[in-house]
Amino acid sequence: MKVLVPVKRVVDYNVKVRVKSDGIGVDIANVKMSMNPFDEIAVEEAIRLREKGLVTEVIAVSCGVTQCQETLRTAMAIGADRAILVETTDELQPLAVAKLLKALFDKEQPGLVILGKQAIDDDCNQTGQMLAALCDLPQATFASKVELSADAVSVTREVDGGAETLKLTLPAIITTDLRLNEPRYVTLPNIMKAKKKVMEVLKPSDLGVDVRAHLKTLKVSEPPKRSAGIKVPDVATLVSKLKNDAKVI
Ligand code: AMP
Repeated sequence: MKVLVPVKRVVDYNVKVRVKSDGIGVDIANVKMSMNPFDEIAVEEAIRLREKGLVTEVIAVSCGVTQCQETLRTAMAIGADRAILVETTDELQPLAVAKLLKALFDKEQPGLVILGKQAIDDDCNQTGQMLAALCDLPQATFASKVELSADAVSVTREVDGGAETLKLTLPAIITTDLRLNEPRYVTLPNIMKAKKKVMEVLKPSDLGVDVRAHLKTLKVSEPPKRSAGIKVPDVATLVSKLKNDAKVI
């Protein structure tokens, strides 16, 4: 069974994001970019399934600019067997990514697609759900445990106030939550090995997909600045301020 793992190149989670001067996007020039953290968890999960002998091949996929090749090399250094880059400089919205992934799903016929639950740049949390709808396949989002058998997968999901376990027939779509696993460190020998692995490069037109955007970003703004704190002389003043100024007690 093949597993397809879509990985997105995003601004590194340690970077303080700044709004561009045009007010409709964030500045990514000279900013450290990395694999979306939820996608690292997805790659790790797919590799663990292969190590258990339940999966034969793990294919990492990224859609975007040429530099996404670095993200795919990281996925292969974690352990993915090969990679596919769908290269485009167009801005890709979740529906366009889902259509590209559907075309790759039809081409590769994987038993599972494991995506991140959301990309930390635009926080859309849409691609996995849209892919499941386009492919007409069962989906389990926010997975915190995955148990695969020959013809089904059992997924424990984090839901408000507890956990829910679902059994899905294969093929199926899963999106990962933070507690699913802890991705392994990438070792130097594996980075070297990853350089020799196969990376196929396609254009959206090769897959017959129109990636035109249907949504327009009107405005992006930074959160309001927090005002400086103050020191209070005693507990009585603190209680009075919490009661009368902040109105939280
Ligand atoms: P989103 O719906 O944008 O929050 O993204 C959810 C998940 O979809 C991500 O964690 C990735 O697994 C996948 N994804 C989104 N955009 C891309 C992309 N451009 N290339 C590959 N995978 C993507």
